[in-house]
Amino acid sequence: MIDILPDKCDFCGCCVGICPEDAIELKEAEIFIIDSRCTNCSKCVWSCPIEVIKFNKEGVLYK
Ligand code: SF4
Ligand code: SF4
Repeated sequence: MIDILPDKCDFCGCCVGICPEDAIELKEAEIFIIDSRCTNCSKCVWSCPIEVIKFNKEGVLYK
């Protein structure tokens, strides 16, 4: 599953633009993942310049 730490996000929009499934919703000071669309591809994780998106697979936090 993908998690965003909303307190740390600066709402730059990089992750939104890179998501192939249009699964990240960014509205002013709110950001969240639409789980039903997310395929866990992890592109958003690597796109975040301040590393506030976490990819958690089988209990391992990659970032
Ligand atoms: S893991 Fe992939 S599909 Fe899921 S929100 Fe991130 S970029 Fe989109
Ligand atoms: S790329 Fe990172 S800082 Fe930018 S909107 Fe996404 S989660 Fe927030």
